[in-house]
Amino acid sequence: MTPAEWRAALHAEGVRFTELDGWTTRGRDAATGKRFGPVHGSLTHHTAGVTSLNAIAFHGQGPAVPPPLAHAYLPKSGVLVLVAAGRANHAGLAARNAWDAIVAERPIPRPDPSTGTVDGNDGLYGLEIENLGDGRDEYTREQYDTCVRYNAAICRHHRWGPGSVAGHLETSIEGKPDPRGPVEGYGLRGRFMFTMTQLRADVRERLAHPAGWSPPAQEADSMHPAYVNLGLSRGVLLGAGEWTEVQFTREWNDEAGAHAANSAVFVAGPARFSGTLSLRFEGLPEGAVVQVRQSEYKDTKRVQDHPTDEVLATPGSTYRVLPLTNRLGTGRTMRVWLRNQSATDIEVVSAVLKALVWKEG
Ligand SMILES: [Zn+2]
Repeated sequence: MTPAEWRAALHAEGVRFTELDGWTTRGRDAATGKRFGPVHGSLTHHTAGVTSLNAIAFHGQGPAVPPPLAHAYLPKSGVLVLVAAGRANHAGLAARNAWDAIVAERPIPRPDPSTGTVDGNDGLYGLEIENLGDGRDEYTREQYDTCVRYNAAICRHHRWGPGSVAGHLETSIEGKPDPRGPVEGYGLRGRFMFTMTQLRADVRERLAHPAGWSPPAQEADSMHPAYVNLGLSRGVLLGAGEWTEVQFTREWNDEAGAHAANSAVFVAGPARFSGTLSLRFEGLPEGAVVQVRQSEYKDTKRVQDHPTDEVLATPGSTYRVLPLTNRLGTGRTMRVWLRNQSATDIEVVSAVLKALVWKEG
């Protein structure tokens, strides 16, 4: 695919993406003297690390595996990054029997090196999805949705079926395990395990619809409120005297969907919600206070602050569970702000928000 074809195919399929500087000319074609293509399939990987874009685009994996390591990178946000249009070092050697099956769009047998090997980098697009690959780290809903759209975009462009979609574990002669791990959910489906059989089924479903299609979304009703459970991926510094907005960066469940567009937002109106916010602080001097408030927004403007709770420091680390109950009108969103009233910087070690959300209207 040319850069223009990549952009058109991804746009049509509803993929949110950015372009890394230089991606249209990045590749290993000149360095290897082998021109990328013809392409026969799309290979999906997990990074087995976090924030791996620099390694994928610029550093590679040491002198033996120079960059780029993929054509595209897919972080937890679900916003794809185009990294390279040329040859990329992602597939290594593929077993001939697996390669032949991908080319023919037949079920892929276990990769058997005794059937011979093919340089997978000659003819496979490579997608690296940010995931620890430890079998516990979750692929976010946004990541999986983009993964399905990305693979479908490639298939639709080339007029391939889902049989051209493969995982590294299906081609590798070194026993690579990727991609694997739990997925937060997709469409009406809750948490499930990432398998290539499931991904191909989801790509097949997409390809049966026009490119602009979206899978049905969960709808909350009064009997079944949406469940929202958000947290922090790491501790956050809270400067002395400062008001700080809580950016929930780790998502366990976001059935209400408001958090996807802005990490500080946990619910959008019209809705009623009820739940708890659990906070743990380190370094808060005994007797000092952290103020907690819910701030209501209209678009990006703060329009109302709701009664403040106060967390009073206890010896050692300070831990409190606060109730969160409120009602939001149409077009309003809610965020959490914290103010460290002590004279020293402290750390928010964890902030876990759990709420049931009843959508109105
Ligand atoms: Zn891989």
